[in-house]
Formats: sequence, C-alpha cells, structure tokens
Amino acid sequence: MSVISRFDPWKGKLCTCPPKYSVQPYTGCSHACVYCYTVAYVPDYKRGRPKKNFLRQFEREIKKADLSLPLSFSNSSDPYQPLEKELMLTRRALEITGKNKGKAIVVTKSPLVLRDVDIIGRYGFTVSLTITTLREEISSFIEPGAPPPQERLNALKILAQEGIPVSVRIDPLIPGINLREFEKILDAVAPYASHIIVSTLKLYRGSEIKKHIDLSLYSGNYMKEEIRREIIEMAQEKTEERGLTFSSCREGFPELNTGPTCDGTHLIVNYI
Ligand code: SF4
Repeated sequence: MSVISRFDPWKGKLCTCPPKYSVQPYTGCSHACVYCYTVAYVPDYKRGRPKKNFLRQFEREIKKADLSLPLSFSNSSDPYQPLEKELMLTRRALEITGKNKGKAIVVTKSPLVLRDVDIIGRYGFTVSLTITTLREEISSFIEPGAPPPQERLNALKILAQEGIPVSVRIDPLIPGINLREFEKILDAVAPYASHIIVSTLKLYRGSEIKKHIDLSLYSGNYMKEEIRREIIEMAQEKTEERGLTFSSCREGFPELNTGPTCDGTHLIVNYI
C-alpha cells in the first residue's frame, strides 16, 4: 500500500481540487469526529495508528513522485495525531519533502503543528486549519478527540505571527449545530487567515451524526441542492465582506469560488 498517492476522492465529479498527492503517515484518526467520512472505509477509524514502515516507504516513493504537484498532509487522517508528538513521522516527512524541493499543504485540527513551524516556514509550506465552532460543548460533541477550539484559534494566531500563510476550513457546516455560528467563527479567524474553505455536512454509511440532524434537509448523502446553494452563497458573501478569498469543497458551485484554488494550495510560497 503506497503512502503517497494521487488525491482522488472517489473520482467525485464535484471535486475541484487542483492535482495533488495525498500523504498518509497514519491510518485512522484519534480526533474521532462524528461526521468523519472515513467511517465508511477505515476499520476502527477512531484509532490513529502509524503506517507500517512509513518513513522508509515515503523516502522511496518521493523519489518517483512528480514534485511539481503539492503533497497534502493528510486527507483521511490528521497528520498531527497524539502519537505524532513522539513518533514525528509527519515532521520527518515534511523535512524530506522540503529537502527534495517538494511543496506541501498541512491540513490539521491540532496545535501540535506549531512544533513544526520551523520546517513549514523554511520551505514555504502552507497550513489549512479546521475550526468548526468556537463553543467547547459543540466541539466536544462533534470532535470529541480533537483539541478544543480555543487551542486551534491560538495556533492560528501564532502561525500568522510566524508568517505562515493559513487557510481556515469551516467544515462541515451543519444546520442546527454550527451553521448559525458561521459569522462569529469568521470574525474570530479573519484577522489571521488568508483563505476560507467551507463545506456542508455530507453523510456516509455509518455516520454517527445522522441521529442528531434534520434528515429532511437531505437527498441521499448530500443536502438538497437549493439548501446547499443558500448556505454556500451566504458563506461566500460574508467571507467577501471581510476581504478574504473563498471556496467551497465538493458542493458543485465552482462559480462561487473566489480564490485561485479551492483547497488553499495556492498559499504555498513556491506554488506555481
Ligand atoms: S480530523 Fe478529519 S480525519 Fe480525523 S476524525 Fe476528524 S474528520 Fe476524520
């Protein structure tokens, strides 16, 4: 099983991501989000564990990779699992990426990313930080194993102070849970972020959150199109008002995107 693979979310027609690789130092994710899509295909998805021989394989595979494309750390597991503190797989892989003149975007919910600000800054990488709520009681319900919102906000401020370009994912937006908080989150992150990414909640086989939401809003895995459009248009308008670029993830409304990429990879310093 390779540890660097072309990013291809089930060949989804709605994905507008630029070509990139996905790097997975870990399988499963201890953040244990109740909306996580990996519930549908990762056994024991709430248990983050290292990939066997990850670094050895990473060093082998990066030599064959097309490094004009960015590497995304990670897409099916946060690269800053609690275990990363001691194992340092993500840190070492980022360093190897930089030494090979590769480009990276780090997608995380964890302030542990601050430990690696030296490498991220040295090689011009970017961070995409997910902040879904400012309320601890909501966070501990929907993301029970993830660091609390205030710690993520502090991390965002420090990343900005360190000159790291950061996109913020306010994702997923869930009516009845965090949607009405959207503007407050935006106000909290706007001074430190360069780009905002949103997405509505998608449902997957086994999604625990199904019990807690209004299923009449849904048609299959997605909210009905008119509801999604209303949410994404509202989010775009509020983001534009604050002078930030905007994109939505896998919604099918690319005309509403105002940033050069939908995933924030354009913030990598040597992106072109
Ligand atoms: S942080 Fe991401 S990968 Fe980890 S459980 Fe939450 S949604 Fe899944």
